[in-house]
Amino acid sequence: MNHFRHEELLQKSKEYVWLPFTQMKDYDQNPLIIAEGEGIYLKDTEGNKYYDGNSSVWLNVHGHNNKFLNEAINRQLEKISHSTLLGMANVPAVLLAEKLVQLSPSSLKRVFYSDSGATAVEIALKMAFQYWQNKGFSKKKKFITMNNGYHGDTIGAVSVGAVDLFHKLYKPLLFDSYKVPYPYTYRHESSEAEVCKEECLFELEKILVSHHEEIAALICEPIMQGAGGMIRMPDGYLSEVASLCRKYDVLLITDEVATGFGRTGEWFACDHENVEPDIMTVAKGLTGGYLPVAATLTTEKIYEAFYDDYEKMKTFFHGHSYTGNQLGCTVALANIELFEQNKVIENVQTESKKIAPSLESLKELPHVGDVRGIGFMVGVELVKNKETKEPFPWEERMGYQVTLKMRELGMISRPMGDVLVFMPPLITQEKDLREMIHIMRKAIQLVTERKAVDV
Ligand SMILES: *Cc1c(COP(=O)(O)O)cnc(C)c1O
Repeated sequence: MNHFRHEELLQKSKEYVWLPFTQMKDYDQNPLIIAEGEGIYLKDTEGNKYYDGNSSVWLNVHGHNNKFLNEAINRQLEKISHSTLLGMANVPAVLLAEKLVQLSPSSLKRVFYSDSGATAVEIALKMAFQYWQNKGFSKKKKFITMNNGYHGDTIGAVSVGAVDLFHKLYKPLLFDSYKVPYPYTYRHESSEAEVCKEECLFELEKILVSHHEEIAALICEPIMQGAGGMIRMPDGYLSEVASLCRKYDVLLITDEVATGFGRTGEWFACDHENVEPDIMTVAKGLTGGYLPVAATLTTEKIYEAFYDDYEKMKTFFHGHSYTGNQLGCTVALANIELFEQNKVIENVQTESKKIAPSLESLKELPHVGDVRGIGFMVGVELVKNKETKEPFPWEERMGYQVTLKMRELGMISRPMGDVLVFMPPLITQEKDLREMIHIMRKAIQLVTERKAVDV
């Protein structure tokens, strides 16, 4: 990319583009245009190279420009790119559905495709709602969600979301759902996982006892809340939530859009506690970070509640134009093949163990309050005062400033408020992981301590 081309693109990007989750005034001050990717690196239009420290917002598995994935798409391209899934199937969509059923918790037997995490969640909500309607339980219409939960940006997904910064403004557009506390140990007055967990379970059961007859389903992010601030559930919490749902006849929807596909060191986060949800959503890592395909998986019992003569009016009237896209399903299949070939899940398990001490050592810094996570899904919470856990004033945008500094030092990521996000591609090896953590450490020091350090 020559310099002239860069200037021209910069001009055009400022003139024509509106970016998601972005205050465009910030972008205009710190613009960046990616031109290429190779392995765990991104390259911008000026030729600068960066580590992809958050897997292009939690997607990438095998690195960018992967030959095997590229070739799979090329081969499919010679056959067909897309045909509709409305009323007819296609070859890669059928084969991928079989694979997904084999890999996912054993309760899940059916695959409904869409094209993003948010649409997979919309489908989960409508499916749960209609399941009870079709079965004749017309009062079961409501949902339970967890504080700080994030399930995407469409109106239904926002209705079960609970991140005030993103969701509060839209309240007049949303349907009501019950919100239960999420076990955020670091910010719980006891700071003790067990105490925090029991308290949250108690609150959940209280709502279930009095309202289960009107509740269709509970939705949560299993093991790790992502956008709410990279918050890990205390051990055992998820399986207790699953038992409570069963006890009160409420469907369990686990949103594995972020945690699925090896991110936490198992195929799915549910696998850590052998939880078998009624509905599960997947997207992000499903195509290795290549193309927009998502899926909502469910049980045979739910599927059967929709299966009848047309006149019985039980059909699930939902779909998207690009549902089951052949190129996308093909690359998802190749992605899964590479997982097996390259032992990606094992890589996440072993490498995350090796780097645990250097992540833990970030806590020595005067403004790092908490470091938490599992597998390659890690959050680093910055605070003004470690003793009192007092946050930095939000206007200082410390997480954002640190992330800009990381960019200068050669790594891209995006914070959630003052929680830094470390989610490298799943094939990243120890040496690069250490280098990435080193960049994060330097950036934290330079910005929060405003002190010069060796880089
Ligand atoms: C990212 C995310 C979504 C939304 O997925 P999109 O593909 O961005 O619509 C939903 N749920 C969770 C848990 C996510 O992390």
